[in-house]
Amino acid sequence: MQNRKEQQRNLALKDINAGIVETHSHLRYPYRLNFYDKPPLEDITIEEFETAALDRLRVLAEIESCFARNRTFKEMQTVILENVCSKYLELNRTSNELKPLDDERRKDHIGHFVLRLAFCRSEDLRRRFVKAETTLFKLRYETEDSLERVKFLGSRNFDWILASPEEVQELVPSTSSEKPGNYYKVKWTRVPDLVEKRRVLMKRGMAYVPAAEQASIVFQEFQAHLEKALEATAKALPRLDEDTRLVPILDNLSKGFQAGVSSEWSGATEGPDGALRADMIDEMAYKHFPACMRNLHMCLRRDKHLKHFGRLQYGLFLKILGLSIEEALAFWRKSFSSIQDDKFNKEYRYNIRHSYGLEGKRANYAAKSCQQILMSDEPGPGDSHGCPYRHFSADNLQSALLTMYGEHGLSSADMPEIMNMVKAKHYHVACTRVFEITHARQGVKKGEGVGGGESVTHPNQYAARSRELAKKMEEGKEADGDVVMQG
Ligand code: SF4
Repeated sequence: MQNRKEQQRNLALKDINAGIVETHSHLRYPYRLNFYDKPPLEDITIEEFETAALDRLRVLAEIESCFARNRTFKEMQTVILENVCSKYLELNRTSNELKPLDDERRKDHIGHFVLRLAFCRSEDLRRRFVKAETTLFKLRYETEDSLERVKFLGSRNFDWILASPEEVQELVPSTSSEKPGNYYKVKWTRVPDLVEKRRVLMKRGMAYVPAAEQASIVFQEFQAHLEKALEATAKALPRLDEDTRLVPILDNLSKGFQAGVSSEWSGATEGPDGALRADMIDEMAYKHFPACMRNLHMCLRRDKHLKHFGRLQYGLFLKILGLSIEEALAFWRKSFSSIQDDKFNKEYRYNIRHSYGLEGKRANYAAKSCQQILMSDEPGPGDSHGCPYRHFSADNLQSALLTMYGEHGLSSADMPEIMNMVKAKHYHVACTRVFEITHARQGVKKGEGVGGGESVTHPNQYAARSRELAKKMEEGKEADGDVVMQG
């Protein structure tokens, strides 16, 4: 039976084909959905190039995390479209005329093509990119206004033929009492997934796809189209390797995707606000630090020393957390308690000041993101930097996590779930799950991540969110206290 929605859609499709329904000719990008047939040809600044790509990467990486967490399609709509895309890759419906639709769509267009360049380089990257992009397309398609969707479909030639009622009558089993709805005829090779699931009728090499499954043809088409385009881009890429401005950006992007986590977190370069004192760090580490920083802190207390990369990873993290240069010097001086002042001043003072941009080239160094910690400077024996989820053995990781977070609600019953994520190499997803468990007392539920379902991408983001939750809880208590006092 054809339902009302389908009827409306078919009528609209007819109208479009007949040129009755107006398309949005005032927009450069008339449709929110895009098959990305042509690359953007206008001038693009390097900054635009990079921002569009990084923001899109953030969305694709979160889509991969959703798969790792077995989120349903419905949950993904909330996490990806409502939370992540609304921050990084807003793409409003055409009916939302007050929004800068062309700008949003241009960013979407540019970002897609930059990431094609970054991810066409290996088969594994291509496969993951196609999966994440097709999912993003599906999420948008399913939430599109039905009329807009019909207009978009009408703008492309999907090469499907509406089967005649006689053909359908012939194919649909005569025992069926219901009147069959519309069917679209396509070559069976275009819908292998539907054939495999036996969701289509077959005759002489043609698949008869019921109207309800029409979207599958669209998704299959999107995927096949992108796979082909990526292979073509891979062949053309060597020519681009001569461009010294673009290659480092593309390398960085593909590294981010390899780590399964994007590199950006907006707070990563914020300077210290000076609110944190050296003597507060023990308590702060215990309450709010992710495993990488908890581990560095524990090693520092145990050995009264940290090697170079450990100092760098931890020092920049503390800087972004709010430790001023004076407090940082006091913290490290006190922590390296077994060495003399003279040695400290000679060997360490300069490096600490350097990381605050007060020596050398005076750069404002950002704290390391999960991506950097996961992918570079692999720790060797005796090193304490890195990410425990990736760099510890399974046994060491489990006992370290229980030591660090046992008092915050993590128990051995949680370990199989965490270790499965680690085994599948979704390290930051495991870290996110630990965050949820250890903040359940502050009201964080499974699947919420560090807010809105987002996964951990930066140690400072983990700590900032943890502090924020504790503050909210404190304020809640105070407010309750006021009520009691007033009462
Ligand atoms: Fe640290 Fe990121 Fe690893 Fe968590 S996932 S422990 S925040 S590096």
